[in-house]
Amino acid sequence: MKKGLTYDDVLLVPQYSDIRSRSQISIKTDLGKGIKLDVPIIASPMDTVSETEMANGLGSMGGIAIIHRYNTIEEQSVMIASMPSEILVGAAVGVVGDFKNRARAAVEAGAKLICIDVAHGHHILMKEAITVIKEAMPNVHVMAGNVATLEGFNDLADWGADSIRCNIGGGSICTTRIQTGHGVPGLETIFRCAESDRNAKIIADGGIKNSGDIVKALAAGADAVMLGSLLAGTDLAPGKTFKGSNGELRKAYRGMASAEAQKDWRGRVSSAEGVASSIPYRGELYSVVNELQRGIRSGFSYSGARSIKEMRAKAKWLKQSSASAVESSAHVRLL
Ligand code: IMP
Repeated sequence: MKKGLTYDDVLLVPQYSDIRSRSQISIKTDLGKGIKLDVPIIASPMDTVSETEMANGLGSMGGIAIIHRYNTIEEQSVMIASMPSEILVGAAVGVVGDFKNRARAAVEAGAKLICIDVAHGHHILMKEAITVIKEAMPNVHVMAGNVATLEGFNDLADWGADSIRCNIGGGSICTTRIQTGHGVPGLETIFRCAESDRNAKIIADGGIKNSGDIVKALAAGADAVMLGSLLAGTDLAPGKTFKGSNGELRKAYRGMASAEAQKDWRGRVSSAEGVASSIPYRGELYSVVNELQRGIRSGFSYSGARSIKEMRAKAKWLKQSSASAVESSAHVRLL
């Protein structure tokens, strides 16, 4: 039986670096069809992560947010239309029902990317949806997913996806693997999809906890990362902050397939594959994203890499033991 690795199973080995300043490092990424990002960070299409404020904030810093689809077509297009046009924004759609009208309205409102957003993307309904959207809007960037395998990645690329969300069951609010027994560890999925000879771009989605994980995802072959929990606690995520039981500030964060979210957006629960929770308030999006950027640049400099492409080429991997994983996180003890 094959084994699968994820973020905390591996480390990147530090290497000789001739980079004198981190300003010499570029973390730009080009996802194709006009989606050029200065920062390889995409905000998840979730109702506790991506609405207008997140899209404005992250977009103005060089990333992009995908406005979620758990609203009416009009609500989604108003969110998109209220943004300055020079800021890149994406819009999520499903694979059945109103998805074609939703995509058209989003593009008319200014979306430059349509994300066909389903949990199991290696599916006939995805094939049909990509075909319909590509036919109607051939010049718009189509992001599709999620997939967990190279076969899935190649099929979605062949069906027409320009970028593909990779990882099933790895999200911090996700219970898919418990509920269904299915999934592939997040970083393993990136390694496998990176073997593809197709041109579609790899989006590492779910389970990314810190800038070190972002560096690992990019080094393994991702062209950008998609973040939920790392952004949901910031000031520009939807929803108000509230006080937790110890008086600390928190924000709601929930899986879109959690029972609570399903009740809100479709009035009933089919299989619940996520949880509804809350996370500590992390302050301004601006400082959180800046901190992540600094961590990514520092990570590249440890491998002597000036770009995402160089990082991927130079990466030297080491599998770490569980004792090493403990050593790798802060473990100071009072003696
Ligand atoms: P995080 O960054 O680890 O919090 O993961 C965010 C990702 O989890 C999203 O981009 C989705 O791919 C995924 N996701 C969102 N809602 C659910 C859910 O209810 N169940 C499973 N996965 C989810």
